[in-house]
Amino acid sequence: MSESFEIRCKGVGVSEGIVVGRVLRMHGNTGYVYRANIQPADLEQELERFRAAVRLSRSQLQAIKDRAERELGKDHAYIFDAHLLLLEDEKLINDVENSIRTEQANAEWALKVVSDRLLSVYSEIKDDYLRERGSDIEDVVQRLLVSLSGEQPVHRNLPEDAVIVSQELLPSAVAELDLDFARAVATDSGGWTSHMAIIARGLGIPAVVGLRDFYRRARTGDTIIVDSGRNEVILNPTPATFARYQSETTNRTRTRMPEAVHRGPLRTLDGVEIRLRANVELPAEFAGVSTYDAQGIGLYRSEFLLARRGVMVSEEEQYLAYSKIAEVAGKYGAIVRLFDLGAEKQFDPAREPERNPALGLRAIRYGLHNEEIMRTQMRAILRAATGDRLDIVLPMVGDVSDVRRARRILNQEVSSLADAQVPQGQVRVGAMIETPSAVITADSIASTVDFFELGTNDLVQYTLAVDRGNEDVADWFRTLHPAVLYGINRSLEAARKRGIGAIVCGEMASTPSYATLLVGLGATDLSMTPSSMPRIRRVLSLIDSTIARQIAAECLACETADDVEALVRERFRASWPGVFPLSSLPVTRKR
Ligand code: PEP
Ligand code: MG
Repeated sequence: MSESFEIRCKGVGVSEGIVVGRVLRMHGNTGYVYRANIQPADLEQELERFRAAVRLSRSQLQAIKDRAERELGKDHAYIFDAHLLLLEDEKLINDVENSIRTEQANAEWALKVVSDRLLSVYSEIKDDYLRERGSDIEDVVQRLLVSLSGEQPVHRNLPEDAVIVSQELLPSAVAELDLDFARAVATDSGGWTSHMAIIARGLGIPAVVGLRDFYRRARTGDTIIVDSGRNEVILNPTPATFARYQSETTNRTRTRMPEAVHRGPLRTLDGVEIRLRANVELPAEFAGVSTYDAQGIGLYRSEFLLARRGVMVSEEEQYLAYSKIAEVAGKYGAIVRLFDLGAEKQFDPAREPERNPALGLRAIRYGLHNEEIMRTQMRAILRAATGDRLDIVLPMVGDVSDVRRARRILNQEVSSLADAQVPQGQVRVGAMIETPSAVITADSIASTVDFFELGTNDLVQYTLAVDRGNEDVADWFRTLHPAVLYGINRSLEAARKRGIGAIVCGEMASTPSYATLLVGLGATDLSMTPSSMPRIRRVLSLIDSTIARQIAAECLACETADDVEALVRERFRASWPGVFPLSSLPVTRKR
């Protein structure tokens, strides 16, 4: 039952803007299948749940097929025959039902196990046409999973006023959507540095996260107002609220790009040059690199290539994607981060969930554990690096041994391409500094890499042991914690001592007051969502780096995040009156 009275929910506005639209509920994580034990007494009910999902999927497909026939002609509708046939395939259905019975497992799990077995057979077939049929199986399985979840299937082409409401919008789900039509996003979980938030900012889509149980209350089609500035969403607004917002909102899908974007070199008042590079994930963000005059791409989060979960992208497709990235980046080049899979970016849905994914087989560990995946990616990058500069950065290294192992693999791939006389470019190798162990051993890591990238999102998460996507602990996620500042300072120092570059690429770099503090800690290279660049340019061109250094030194001597925040508020306003409006300075939260 839809609740028709006005409901206001507080969360955290993570991407600016106000939007009035209609709810489109989306089950953001259908690809990640959990195993549940089914008691013998409940097995029959579970089987019936599966059969109902098959029936529902069949009738949906039949309707889609009929429509395709009407609108596009028979030639285009045959694809759905293949899908329908799969749903009528007795062997497949029986195998899933048997698996539910014998494993005493939930239908989702049984379906995934059976279909993965089938898919692995298809993936080894030499015939291209037959191998392609594997993707039909994936589509049908996805449809069945959505049917089992009780959700409406999500159409990749969204209606024009869609506000996506989800419990958790995983990166893979975001990457699959046609974001041209998403007006705003509202999710139960997430924080400022969760990937959905990062992408929403990149695309200029207003977003409020951390709404706790909003998803449960919203129904597809409900009217909704997303007001990021007030950290709020309003469901079924009263006519009075609605009218107020109608006049207040520009109701644009995208924040308009500023008319005049400051271009050219950026210097602080005392002449220190600061280089701004772009963080990109999706093709929709590429245009921002030249619009905002970024000095190349500082971070390409390559795992967003694997939008369709469970499907590895071939070397050839990767080669094309990295060539495109190099072209977009131009003469300053691009840094491709090796797949940062694991944690909330699960690639293999059939894998048993880890007990503690953020501390599990994530990032470089995933690559070293699945060496072929790493090798393929390295080959594609080396091949694409023949024109404009492409470099590699290794995500979440623990210490120098992770770097050595990855370098050994890279060297082998360089040799094997050379032996086969395949053209390749020279790539430099950098390390992401994101864990306390990397900070503590930064000196030795600096001696084995060509540059550092400071991933402050994870550095905060791991230094403070606070999940970056869990709204229950959001108050403990303190970017200005002295321990975090210490880690940044130490890493920058290690890079300086060794004479290598260090780019700060976490979300900290795109927040004016934090970026100022970073300059105070000695950072001269920042990488961020392109749309954040104008305000960072403005602020950094108005500050004096020597003063920033003095303030940063004082912050390093503080005992708590509250003390740092209070100091920043006071010193920034006194040193640069008018540059930092109150709203742009850190607010100490009450706990
Ligand atoms: C970071 O951790 O700061 C970072 C840049 O990487 P990601 O946000 O993708 O984890
Ligand atoms: Mg990270």
